[in-house]
Amino acid sequence: MRAMVLDAPRNPLRLAERPDPVAEPGQILIRVRACGVCRTDLHVVDGELRDPKLPLILGHQIVGEVVQGGSRFAPGDRAGVPWLGWTDGDCRYCLSGRENLCDSARFTGYQLDGGFAELAVADERFCFSVPEAYADEHAAPLLCAGLIGYRALRLAGDAEAIGLYGFGSSAHIVCQVATAEGRRVFAGTRAGDENAQAFARSLGAVWAGDALAGPPEELDAVVVFAPVGELVPAALRQIRKGGVVVCAGIHMSDIPSFPYELLWGERVIRSVANLTREDGEELLALAPTVPVRTEVEVFPLEQANEALERLRRGEVRGSAVLVL
Ligand SMILES: [Zn+2]
Ligand SMILES: [Zn+2]
Repeated sequence: MRAMVLDAPRNPLRLAERPDPVAEPGQILIRVRACGVCRTDLHVVDGELRDPKLPLILGHQIVGEVVQGGSRFAPGDRAGVPWLGWTDGDCRYCLSGRENLCDSARFTGYQLDGGFAELAVADERFCFSVPEAYADEHAAPLLCAGLIGYRALRLAGDAEAIGLYGFGSSAHIVCQVATAEGRRVFAGTRAGDENAQAFARSLGAVWAGDALAGPPEELDAVVVFAPVGELVPAALRQIRKGGVVVCAGIHMSDIPSFPYELLWGERVIRSVANLTREDGEELLALAPTVPVRTEVEVFPLEQANEALERLRRGEVRGSAVLVL
């Protein structure tokens, strides 16, 4: 099969011919039709996440056709593969409904080969059925940007005025869910990024502007999607007493020190790590009812490096997706 391979961090992906993967017991074999590109992929390429298997096939938002099924999926079914690829099922986190924190978790496109390839294998217990309403390339961004964004939204509690800072793949999905729930969305972008701000308004945001300066009113919560540590004290300044700042990315530049008074008043800072299968089932059931529409920019497999660079430069409107 053809695959885009990462030989070592800080190298471009390389188009290579690789042996077809073989499904082990419990795994299904999938012909990849679309695979979303995520900021986490950039963090792996840049060496900011420390434990990738190497060489590695990136990609953890896979939508494809099952070639060899198992007990949950039959040949011809459509399956979605997310970031959470395997857990041990018996650590204190798995046993308490927090498999996203599993001590031994393995992640797709990081410790397990992912979907920047013609074929992929996956533990079928962690795969999802893909809602029929979505074409392959429009479903793919739901599988990480959507469902980890959804988890972040849930962890923001019942916030009515909610900031989404970094208006990329995740925020453009979460904005639609939050708006449908009757919340008011305040979209924070880089100063002067008028394209992103207009995009956010078109999806229902009541305000869009410079995230560091913030909107003209106090917020109940802010979800920070951009990997920019400065946004954390900025967001703390913008939330009311008892409000929460949720850091939704897997990696962020250092958070600058800030006076304790910004945290005072029972303000909370927390991160969101990974996903549970329950998060996925919930979001995939909810998305078609909103209905969430994903805006995608598609690239052929061999242009994975171009897709990553456009994402790095903040040039992608919505989500970048490789299509095969
Ligand atoms: Zn576990
Ligand atoms: Zn991701």
